[in-house]
Amino acid sequence: MRFQWMVLSLLMLSGTASFLYINHYQAITASQSAEAQLSDQAIRLQQDLATKNSMIQQLQNEIIQLSRQAEEVRSKVEEMKTLEQELTQLLPPSQAPQPDKPVSAPAQTADREYSSLPVTAQQLELLTSSALASYTSVGQELDKLQAKWQQSKLTILLERERFKRIPNIWPTRSRVVTSPFGYRKDPFTNQSSFHRGIDIAGAMDDPVMATGTGTVVTVAFDPFHGHHVILEHADGLRTWYMHLNSVLVQLGEHVECGQSIGKLGTSGRSTGPHLHYEVVQHGKSTDPQPFLP
Ligand SMILES: [Zn+2]
Repeated sequence: MRFQWMVLSLLMLSGTASFLYINHYQAITASQSAEAQLSDQAIRLQQDLATKNSMIQQLQNEIIQLSRQAEEVRSKVEEMKTLEQELTQLLPPSQAPQPDKPVSAPAQTADREYSSLPVTAQQLELLTSSALASYTSVGQELDKLQAKWQQSKLTILLERERFKRIPNIWPTRSRVVTSPFGYRKDPFTNQSSFHRGIDIAGAMDDPVMATGTGTVVTVAFDPFHGHHVILEHADGLRTWYMHLNSVLVQLGEHVECGQSIGKLGTSGRSTGPHLHYEVVQHGKSTDPQPFLP
């Protein structure tokens, strides 16, 4: 009887041990599987993180590049503004557009030195907003420059037109001045007299040209001036062409600078073929020399 009890007890004990062992084995297997799953997830997360870090790095580089470009563009605009101011100074003062007040240097940003990459989000944000502000301000400066250049172009065109209407060439092919402007001994009376123009030597019927664009205000003949023409130009200026052999223009006619208005001669009070050329400003004879090239 006792033996039977012992066998039964042994069987129960081994059954319990088997049960406990199986349970323990199952627990270990489940734990190992969970661990493997976690490990896989960790690897995937690390890969994601690496990709995102690489993207952030690329974006950082692009922001820095944009910021540098903004500074380069700004620097070019500053150069253009200097050039514009130099051009403005070449224009006549009365018509020159007023130069802008000097523009203060752009605000310094936290990361003007690019030797090291910005590392914090705050630094990147600052750099981005600075680049954006720079582009906006450059755009406004370009608009201003465009308006100014258009104004300068108009001024230059007007000035070129005005210049054409001011005597600025020789009235003859000949450059031989036989009698200058000012006091001289009169060839007829041999007494000192004031010569109101210059005498230019030439051959009979040499072309006589309008020295500036203008209007014919006088075509006449008298024993003193001979056949003569008077042109009216800009700035109260008139030019007189005397002792002509013949006249090629009519009263009121518009003439272009360089246009033939008559032929050289010796009509009137003259000792030989020449042109007496006179420049009169606001009714007063003036030295023609400054109006010759
Ligand atoms: Zn003369």
